[in-house]
Amino acid sequence: MKAAVLTQFRQPLEMLTMPDPKPGPDDAVLEVVCCGICRSDWHAWQEDWTWFGMKIKPPHILGHEISGRVIEVGKNVRSYKVGDRVTAAFHTACGHCFACSTGHSNQCTSGSGSIGFSFQGGFAQYVSIPQADVNLVRLPDAVDDMSAAALGCRFMTAYHGVIERAAVQAGEWVAVFGLGGVGLSALQIAVAAGAQVIAVDISDDKLQAAQVEGAAVTINGKSGAAHKEIKALTKGGVNVSVDALGIAETALPAIGSLRRGGRHLQIGMTSQKEQGKIALPVDSMVQQELSFIGTYGCPVTSYPRLLSLVASGKLNPKRLVKDIVSLDQTSDVLTAMTNYSTMGLSVINRW
Ligand SMILES: [Zn+2]
Ligand SMILES: [Zn+2]
Repeated sequence: MKAAVLTQFRQPLEMLTMPDPKPGPDDAVLEVVCCGICRSDWHAWQEDWTWFGMKIKPPHILGHEISGRVIEVGKNVRSYKVGDRVTAAFHTACGHCFACSTGHSNQCTSGSGSIGFSFQGGFAQYVSIPQADVNLVRLPDAVDDMSAAALGCRFMTAYHGVIERAAVQAGEWVAVFGLGGVGLSALQIAVAAGAQVIAVDISDDKLQAAQVEGAAVTINGKSGAAHKEIKALTKGGVNVSVDALGIAETALPAIGSLRRGGRHLQIGMTSQKEQGKIALPVDSMVQQELSFIGTYGCPVTSYPRLLSLVASGKLNPKRLVKDIVSLDQTSDVLTAMTNYSTMGLSVINRW
């Protein structure tokens, strides 16, 4: 099969012919129809996240925002057959541990790890998904392949974070810092939940995209005073702040924009500079009773609700797709992510 392969960190991916995957007894092989290119792919390509144990050994195929068709299943697979249209959460699960059986498959530590990180991913014509009965998600007819790839990791992560972890309520003020793919996703979802959303970025183009997604207010964060503007505008601060990037320059003003009792949702994970650590204003967080909420992926059991909102058009992940590329352009998208010059979501759909 054709694949865009990471052969050396930080160097262009190479277009290579790789062996077609064969399914193990519990697995399914998909023909990849669409695959998003995510900032997590960029992090892996940069050799980030070694500080929490990520180890990628080139040659390696990244890619974890997949929609596809089942072309082969292992002998134990019961729920899926050849021809089924599917997607999968990037974090695979075992289906029977405590986390899985209590609806937290995103917290399972007994699965096969993450698609495209722990094993070969979707920057290729075919991909094998382990434990298919547990990890595949069937697509309703009303959710097309592009929308399913756009749910990817960024949109489903934003959904779980905004709706299930931060529990954003109608009428609340929400500030989203960093308007990359996951930031625009969080914005769209918070707006759909009835929140009044303030969007912050240093790129005017991204602020414009935020207006399209229904931001009540946009603020250019270049001055470093966004948190003060937000506190004045909302007469005390937002109920929920979202750091959709994971650098000190977004996490700290996000927390600084909260009102007393506010909730900070941390979606973005850190880069080389922070290496997992951002110094927080602990004393004021204690005094103001602020919550710091981490969020990771999206449990498989949340997909039916998420997919029904996409099927009915209340959520529209496909609208965030700003760039449709071919497999051999994947590397260029990763390069563009280095200086944040991509817009919204970039998705591969030509092989
Ligand atoms: Zn991702
Ligand atoms: Zn499990």
